Amino acid sequence: MTEIASHSDETRPTVLIIDDSADVHRLLKVRLKHEEIDFLSAERGAPGIQLARDHRPTLVLLDLDMPEMDGFQVLRALKDHNETQHIPVIVLSGQQSPQDKVTAFELGAVDYITKPFEFTELRVRVRSALRMHQLVQMLAQKAQIDGLTGLWNRTYFDNRWTEEHARATRHGHPISVAVLDVDHFKSVNDTFGHPAGDAVLQGLAKIARREARNTDLACRYGGEEFVLIMPDTRAHEAEILLERVRAAVEATVWPRHPQRTVTISVGIVGATGVTPASAAEWIEAADRNLYAAKHGGRNRVVTTDLSVCLPGFIARQK
Ligand code: GH3
Ligand code: MG
Ligand code: MG
Repeated sequence: MTEIASHSDETRPTVLIIDDSADVHRLLKVRLKHEEIDFLSAERGAPGIQLARDHRPTLVLLDLDMPEMDGFQVLRALKDHNETQHIPVIVLSGQQSPQDKVTAFELGAVDYITKPFEFTELRVRVRSALRMHQLVQMLAQKAQIDGLTGLWNRTYFDNRWTEEHARATRHGHPISVAVLDVDHFKSVNDTFGHPAGDAVLQGLAKIARREARNTDLACRYGGEEFVLIMPDTRAHEAEILLERVRAAVEATVWPRHPQRTVTISVGIVGATGVTPASAAEWIEAADRNLYAAKHGGRNRVVTTDLSVCLPGFIARQK
């Protein structure tokens, strides 16, 4: 299975407690020990912020009254930083000041609990914050999945490709990307109807998922075009994989039109080491290969290994 549709995080939530009192840490852990939660602890603001950045906990319980850096400063720092701004924060405070509550909410806290804790209340507030966080994550993930095929969508692809390309370029790791397009797809729609076309797209997604590795990322780029990001994969390895996908699509007997086979054309670009080609140049090159496959008669895979043909590749970009 490729990394598709099963991206929900099944791991236990982690709660980071930032409080200068060791007693509070002990107490919270004891009172929440039946909650299936892992804990991280910091007794000062600065190390707490660092832990949040390093571990991205599911929830932060944050004391307001601390030496060196108070809870408001910590909250501001967490909300100012890209990596931590989405982590929900429940503020814990010994003070009953309404102004503190208002300030905490204004700075982005999701809840506020007054010390000394009423533990039943603490538990339900923590549960509620965790549940809300889970829902938000689920929605965010749904927004990145294509409804018809269950593959990642274009938005996700754009972000992820930029990241994967940068990672491979930085470390000189191999990486390949493939663009797939259904041949004469319009005539499948026109002859057998739009639902038959949809079934072909779903079937193709299933084949791509089945043939790809866990670490590959299959995305629906739009319409009847798909992309596959293959980290740690050399061009010739990607070609073997996509050749398998191509053959499997050609061999598929479609329940709605058993008499009509469907084929795909594929453009691949891969490299083994560092290349100066930008993320966008890679996709443009893969697109060019796709069109070469179309013009070469369709139902075929055209591959460029940038590690071998870089000078020509760069010249074509100019
Ligand atoms: P080529 O071999 O050159 O790729 O020809 P083609 O007919 O596949 O390409 P073209 O771009 O002319 O047609 C693509 C068609 O895909 C047109 C559009 O109606 C159809 N299409 C796009 N999205 C969907 C979808 O979600 N479901 C269905 N059933 N059809 C779609
Ligand atoms: Mg097409
Ligand atoms: Mg097309």
